[in-house]
Amino acid sequence: MLHDLRLLQMLPAAVLVTQEGVIRFANAASAQLLEAPDTALLIGRHYRDFVHPIDRQRSSNRVQQVAEPVQGGQPNKPSEFRIRTLLGNLRMVLISSVAAQWDAAPAVLMCGLDRTHQSEIEAQLRESEQNFRRLFENMQDVYYRTDAQGIVRHVGPGVRRVLGYEPHEIEGRTAESYYPRSTDRDAFKAVILEHGEVSDFPGQMVRRDGTVIDISISSHALYDHAGNFAGVEGIYRDVTQRKNLERELQRLATTDMLTGMANRRAFLECAESVYAHSRHSGEPLTLLMLDLDHFKSINDRFGHLEGDRTLAEFAQAVKSQLRASDVAGRLGGEEFGVLLPATSLDEGRQVALRILHSVRALQLHDEAGNAYHVTASLGLSTFRGTDRSLRDMLDRADQALYQAKHHGRNQIASQEPCSDH
Ligand code: GH3
Ligand code: MG
Ligand code: MG
Repeated sequence: MLHDLRLLQMLPAAVLVTQEGVIRFANAASAQLLEAPDTALLIGRHYRDFVHPIDRQRSSNRVQQVAEPVQGGQPNKPSEFRIRTLLGNLRMVLISSVAAQWDAAPAVLMCGLDRTHQSEIEAQLRESEQNFRRLFENMQDVYYRTDAQGIVRHVGPGVRRVLGYEPHEIEGRTAESYYPRSTDRDAFKAVILEHGEVSDFPGQMVRRDGTVIDISISSHALYDHAGNFAGVEGIYRDVTQRKNLERELQRLATTDMLTGMANRRAFLECAESVYAHSRHSGEPLTLLMLDLDHFKSINDRFGHLEGDRTLAEFAQAVKSQLRASDVAGRLGGEEFGVLLPATSLDEGRQVALRILHSVRALQLHDEAGNAYHVTASLGLSTFRGTDRSLRDMLDRADQALYQAKHHGRNQIASQEPCSDH
């Protein structure tokens, strides 16, 4: 027994061999545990000197037990003892002992593991685990992981709040089920496969109650040991409020509040793209410029507030004659623009006439209840292949409007050659 002492020397656990309680052998780990600069300082001492008085009786009972033949050479179960080191520090050590032979005489081999910091480490682990759990449970974001087939393997509890589902209802199903448009998911997949990750990727999802929410996803691709795509892991969050705010800001920035029409900037921006489309496709395009006649006198007679109401009514009358694809905007004070895509000169003239009539037909009343009417003048231009830019069309419509005013107002003029009469 105990032939190879080098092995015992090298063990990371503390090992002592005692005879009659006196230490005959100590390995390096035991010197370290007992804070002895050298193992030689331990040899010849009684092991009991290092056991805390509270544990002495218990430890000598156990040592006696293993020495008795009843034990059958089996080591006793590990148990914790308070140990006092050479420097007087207390340590908690897990010790097991077994009967052995030393110099051809019975001996006891003790093996100890320092557990002094164990409980601290466990407490720290427990605490960090609890912190992580709390964070995970209260996270506004939804953590998720899918496999290579797109099946959700794990989803965080945040999904209750965001989608209204229990995690187990989602796990095992494909992520596609929650996308209102499969094209969203396809676009997401394409980016993930190309770049390995996405950050703040926009999309939409359907909640359990059927409402569609805006989400933002940040995820990365997972790969197995062989480097094959193994799924996706990441988080998504509900950004509906932010998106609504952005949409509202966008609306406020592009809408004229009095008439509800596009404002000048938004109208011109939209006109540019409609114009570019015609330029590209050769499709006809008609532009109308409208200006209320003698509007100053409305303000003068009924006041500015009534003037505002008239402007709003006028805008409604114009809109009532337009298709969904037409674009109307307020260019300034009482001047408006209307773009009629895919509309020839003749058709445009028809629309202009209808607008003129619906404006004339407006039943307006001042504060005292007296009825009054308004009229408008209209300038019309159409897209020409020779135009350099939208500006040319706008200029022609402007000149036509000037003519309509000049010829007595309440009429349409156009800079285009008459084709219908
Ligand atoms: P014309 O037939 O030549 O267009 O005459 P007009 O009086 O309509 O034209 P003018 O350019 O002389 O006057 C436009 C008036 O429109 C002057 C301005 O006070 C009024 N106006 C512009 N914007 C608003 C507005 O938002 N609300 C009100 N109530 N009036 C406005
Ligand atoms: Mg005017
Ligand atoms: Mg004007």
